[in-house]
Amino acid sequence: MNHFSAAEWIDFANHVVPASKKQDMEDHLKTGCKRCSEELSMWQRVQSAAADEANYEPPGAAVGIAKAAFAGSPWAEGKKTEAGTVTVLFDSLLQPVFEGARSSGAGARQLLYRADPYQLDLLLERQHGDGVVMVTGQLLNLSHPEMVGSNVQVKLSNLRGAVVEAVTDQFGEFRGAIKTNGDLEVQILGANDRQIRITLRDALGRSGDSKKP
Ligand SMILES: [Zn+2]
Repeated sequence: MNHFSAAEWIDFANHVVPASKKQDMEDHLKTGCKRCSEELSMWQRVQSAAADEANYEPPGAAVGIAKAAFAGSPWAEGKKTEAGTVTVLFDSLLQPVFEGARSSGAGARQLLYRADPYQLDLLLERQHGDGVVMVTGQLLNLSHPEMVGSNVQVKLSNLRGAVVEAVTDQFGEFRGAIKTNGDLEVQILGANDRQIRITLRDALGRSGDSKKP
C-alpha cells in the first residue's frame, strides 16, 4: 500500500491539496489505513488549535521554551517587539496525551508556530543511525489565507557551522536534511524583511529517550 507522506497530510489538513489528489487521499483513508488516518488526525488537531488561537492559552512550559528560544539570538536583541510576536501553539513533545502522537514515537516532533503574518508547521524526524534530522515544514500566510508562503527562503542550521538552504514550494512547503547533535535552528527569510528564527536545543528530545532507572 502506498502511504502518503506527513507533508501531504499537512497539506490535506490545511486544505491546499489539489482536488484530484485530495480524492486519492480520501480514497486511501477509506481503505482504513490506520497510519495515515492517525497522521491526518494529528495535523487536524494542530490546525484546530491554530483556529482556536483566540481562546488558546499555550501551556506555561511552551511559553518558557519560546522565550528561551529567542533569548540570546541577535535577532531577538535587535528587534524585541517582533520577537515577541512568535508563539508556540503546539509542541508534540509537550502534549503526549494526543493519541495521534503515538505513531510518531520518540524519533519525531511536531511543532506549530504563529509568527505574524505566518503560521509555521514543522515536522522533525530523526533519520536512523547517522544523526541526521529531516525537517519538513509548511508556511501559511494567515493574513492572506488563500496565499501560501511560497518561494520563501529557509535556512536550517545545526548551530555548529552546517547550514542547509531550502525554498518553499507552491504549497509553502520546504524540506531539508541536516546532521546535528541535537540543536537545530530554522530561519525563515519572509516578506518585507520579516525574519523568523526558531532555535531548538535538543530538538528531538534526545534526553527523553534514554531510559534511566
Ligand atoms: Zn496509509
